[in-house]
Amino acid sequence: MLESRDFVINPEIAYSPEQLHLFLLSELGANLLNNSQYRIEKISLDARNKNIKALVKIGFYDKNYDFASELGSVLPTLKNTSKRVIIIGSGPAGLFAAIKLIELGLKPIIIERGKNVRDRRRDIAAINRFNLVDTNSNYCFGEGGAGTYSDGKLYTRSKKRGDINYVLKKFVSHGADANILYEAHPHIGTNKLPMIISSMRNAIIEAGGEFHFHHRVTDLLIHNNSIVGCQTNFQDDFLGEATLLATGHSARDIFTLLQSKNIFIEPKPFALGVRIEHLQSFIDKSQYKFKDRPSFLPPASFSLVAKTIYKGKERGVFSFCMCPGGFIVPSATSQNQVVVNGMSPSRRDSKFANSGIVVSILPSDISSFSQHGALAGMQFQEELENKANELSGRTQKAISQLTSDFIKSNASKEDLDTSYIPGLIPGDIREFLPEFISEPLSLGLQDFNRKIPGFSSHIGQLIGLESRTSSPVKIPRDSQSLEHIEIKNLYPCGEGAGFAGGIMSAALDGINCAIAIAHKLS
Ligand SMILES: Cc1cc2nc3c(=O)[nH]c(=O)nc-3n(C[C@H](O)[C@H](O)[C@H](O)COP(=O)(O)OP(=O)(O)OC[C@H]3O[C@@H](n4cnc5c(N)ncnc54)[C@H](O)[C@@H]3O)c2cc1C
Repeated sequence: MLESRDFVINPEIAYSPEQLHLFLLSELGANLLNNSQYRIEKISLDARNKNIKALVKIGFYDKNYDFASELGSVLPTLKNTSKRVIIIGSGPAGLFAAIKLIELGLKPIIIERGKNVRDRRRDIAAINRFNLVDTNSNYCFGEGGAGTYSDGKLYTRSKKRGDINYVLKKFVSHGADANILYEAHPHIGTNKLPMIISSMRNAIIEAGGEFHFHHRVTDLLIHNNSIVGCQTNFQDDFLGEATLLATGHSARDIFTLLQSKNIFIEPKPFALGVRIEHLQSFIDKSQYKFKDRPSFLPPASFSLVAKTIYKGKERGVFSFCMCPGGFIVPSATSQNQVVVNGMSPSRRDSKFANSGIVVSILPSDISSFSQHGALAGMQFQEELENKANELSGRTQKAISQLTSDFIKSNASKEDLDTSYIPGLIPGDIREFLPEFISEPLSLGLQDFNRKIPGFSSHIGQLIGLESRTSSPVKIPRDSQSLEHIEIKNLYPCGEGAGFAGGIMSAALDGINCAIAIAHKLS
């Protein structure tokens, strides 16, 4: 970069390439623009008052500079002699580990219980249309993991986890819009993710990696406290020098397998609650202070946190995975559960806004499940998901309650228009949420209503159950080698192992594990 300049301008100018060019021409003169090329390096909005401003950083480059060269070259072709690394799970952690392993000269063998993104789409449609949940192919399981049919929000709170730009550039080189490189809150959108994921798969296969779909891992092959590979439901063994376990927060069979094999796992805090849905126009009005959102502004979002005290116990209540212009989706992994989550298309143009509103839970809160040891949280989640399913008449319909009714402890008799395709049953969320969760949830919602007037009134509804926010189990690993603390060559990775919470952090964790594996095998 030759130089960069910061501007505070009208968002209408910032988001229009033609208007931005004219603005730069008038600010800087034709000389600079004729002798260099430029691009947006960073853009964010300051929407604290009605006079919304865009903060834009423009970078100027030599006329011959090749922006595409920054996206990284194609993957190198692996040699026949490359060491094999087994990757269980093709979510963001598994996929980015595979890409990094290839760059480091190692051959990834990806074992995935679900289907490729194209075939997976049919199973997703069957959940919405016929209430049929395939236990291996759903919103959580299948190629690309839980991240494929999601909002594709790509931010992480911690910048220390790794090279965020590396991940963003990989997404762009496989088809994501280049604006994710400079937007303050980048997101891809559920309509674009499948194409990007399949492009990554093709690049991995072309380089010499392998994918095995429909293969559910049923056993880990361990000799002398060291893993040598895994076995799948077809009774076939996959052997490798190292095994990366990246099966996500919903792989309850894997957690159960680890416990049955006496492989050390431990309970961890997690969060659970409901999804709240409003009209996007209400959120826009509350955040932008405009009667109608001007078209150049993105649909508004919110991020809310409350500290509540109930029966002398302090508990956090917070919004989670807010999806502006999005849909609430049925994300159970088995027929007898009701679980909701949220996603948005790239344009975020649905008329609804939704967000998880969840309550933090400590292992000590669920001591009545202690007979399940490290799996107490998982069993607790399962029990509530089953209860929600019973209340829905064993369908994928979800129980809904007007937020104001919930706060007053009145069951709802009516529901509002919704984006949730399987449908709603108006009722009482408290029927499946224990008091230690429902009361802080109510207090949290009252606090949010003070921050955004109307937020917790009759114009919004709660839809439950939102139970898969993070893993209730940790698979501990050595902080330096990243190997499991007892089993050599086993690398617990991503959200399911407790080392990530979201697409970006899972991808970064996959990369970190790949580097640790390469270090060990070199
Ligand atoms: C509907 C929805 C929307 C979301 N929206 C966002 C968002 O906008 N932004 C964001 O950052 N995060 C979002 N998330 C969360 C995000 O998707 C996860 O944090 C992320 O995918 C975790 O990555 P992972 O690779 O660790 O695990 P996962 O993505 O869960 O992948 C695990 C993989 O392992 C496979 N697997 C499981 N068990 C086995 C087995 N026994 N054998 C073989 N394979 C197995 C699964 O099929 C799956 O493909 C969303 C999640 C959902 C469900």
